[in-house]
Amino acid sequence: MMDQPLLISSIIRHAAACHGSTEIVSRISDGSLHRTNYAEVYERSSKLANALASWRLQRGDRVGTLGWNDHRHLEIYYGVSGAGFVCHTINPRLFPDQIVYIVNHASDRLLFVDPSFVGLVADVRQRLQSVERVIVMCSASAMPPEAIAEGFECYEEVIAAHKSGFDWPRLDENDAAGLCYTSGTTGDPKGVLYSHRSTALHALAVCAPDVFNLGERTTVMPVVPMFHVNGWGLPHAAPMVGARLVLPGQRLDPASLYRLITTEKVTFTAGVPTVWGSLLDWIDDNKGEIAPLERVAIGGAACPQIMADRFHKQGVDVVHAWGMTETSPVGLANRCTVPASPAPEGIMSPNRRLKQGKPLFGVETRLLNDDDSVLPHDGTTSGRLQVRGPWVASSYFNPPLESANRANDGWFETGDIATIEAAGTVEIVDRAKDVIKSGGEWISSVTLENAAMSHPDVYEAAAVARDDERWGERPVLFVVLRPGTAPSKEGLLSHLGTRVARWWVPDDIHFVDDLPHTATGKVVKATLRRRLRQ
Ligand code: ADP
Repeated sequence: MMDQPLLISSIIRHAAACHGSTEIVSRISDGSLHRTNYAEVYERSSKLANALASWRLQRGDRVGTLGWNDHRHLEIYYGVSGAGFVCHTINPRLFPDQIVYIVNHASDRLLFVDPSFVGLVADVRQRLQSVERVIVMCSASAMPPEAIAEGFECYEEVIAAHKSGFDWPRLDENDAAGLCYTSGTTGDPKGVLYSHRSTALHALAVCAPDVFNLGERTTVMPVVPMFHVNGWGLPHAAPMVGARLVLPGQRLDPASLYRLITTEKVTFTAGVPTVWGSLLDWIDDNKGEIAPLERVAIGGAACPQIMADRFHKQGVDVVHAWGMTETSPVGLANRCTVPASPAPEGIMSPNRRLKQGKPLFGVETRLLNDDDSVLPHDGTTSGRLQVRGPWVASSYFNPPLESANRANDGWFETGDIATIEAAGTVEIVDRAKDVIKSGGEWISSVTLENAAMSHPDVYEAAAVARDDERWGERPVLFVVLRPGTAPSKEGLLSHLGTRVARWWVPDDIHFVDDLPHTATGKVVKATLRRRLRQ
């Protein structure tokens, strides 16, 4: 067979040639909808590549982005990686100090920023050591005065100044194409470099029927931001198969998402559970129907059972996906269509439909004990989940010393505790650093949270360990209630008592107004544990 490299440039070239008129709809900053297609995105990314070449970037140089999901960000994905540079997507919700650390650690030479982040970048501009140019992703008339005062350039002027047509280099498919940092809830953020090959293989894999099931007839709306682990592969997968793209920009409130789904006839969308909780509530409050939507991928954190049930009631299929920054991100997927299996005795295991699923082809999994012995895949024994595969990181980008060895022995240590069934279905029990160990036995915080959220008054719940003299640790639950509800602590505890083993029932419940979240929507349990100690 021919040795044809898998390259990012070939994805967009294919889309332009075979799906050139397929639409890409973006919500831009003034709230209006911008319409373009794959042929235009290809042409404009070639203009961008010519601009990058004229600025004398070298192979492998990093180019940072601070952007929302829109057509310009898509052009940057392809123009930068296709031309042989590394597209480094930065999470704008991080603290400014973390953004400074990440940009400096990556030695980004350019920074493309959405107008809404101009203030953020202007405030830290002096501390960004390697950045030579800041380009604002808008037209000349939309340039914020602060950007002009700072000497930032205008994206549309850059595109207009360069010719189309670019001789895309025939790169080594193992060269770096993208870079994303983990959100760094522990220690400094760590960079993961994606190659052209890993990005293309991952995108191919997520198109499969039992994963995201994408094709020409799909209209994809990635709610997951393009700065969060390659937008879960969707900005690469959609053009591969000619799916129509709807990019929601900055407006991620339920009313705006609902309007896009219904007016643009979105059939598939993807994002973290917190987004869907508020969308489902909005639909209930407004007696809306989500008719065009066929499928939603939920991942980044466990999908609560109640959420899957509410989507199913709307006629929407749920794909539960598991992944990490280090796994590109999708490693496991469950289309939730498997009939429920009986729960292990005494314990409400999250319904089988809600397990995180089987590995995508290419990804392998195993479980290890504390002493590093390999554990059986029997669906009940839990241990440290390790994975390997062509889109799993083998090391970090210029790693800090203590994290250099996370991919020991050819396997990547996920930091998750899981069970694996004989036929490969994985269930994430907990993150290793969040497990609750009571009397030497594990209590799954994920199961406790699911049980709590099955109560109609509970909006969000987080279970954490409190030190206990007798048992070592005992679970305590933090609960955010739905507005206008006031269930008693005892009522909620007895609700839990019917759903989990007696000794799993939390010792206490704290009702709180909200829970602390990371920049990617995960509950920061370390903060809750600290609150308990105080
Ligand atoms: P970080 O590791 O910086 O928090 P990631 O986005 O890489 O950011 O998070 C990966 C972690 O998120 C996984 O190790 C796992 O604990 C959790 N996670 C992701 N998807 C799921 C899921 N479907 N169910 C349960 N946990 C999940």
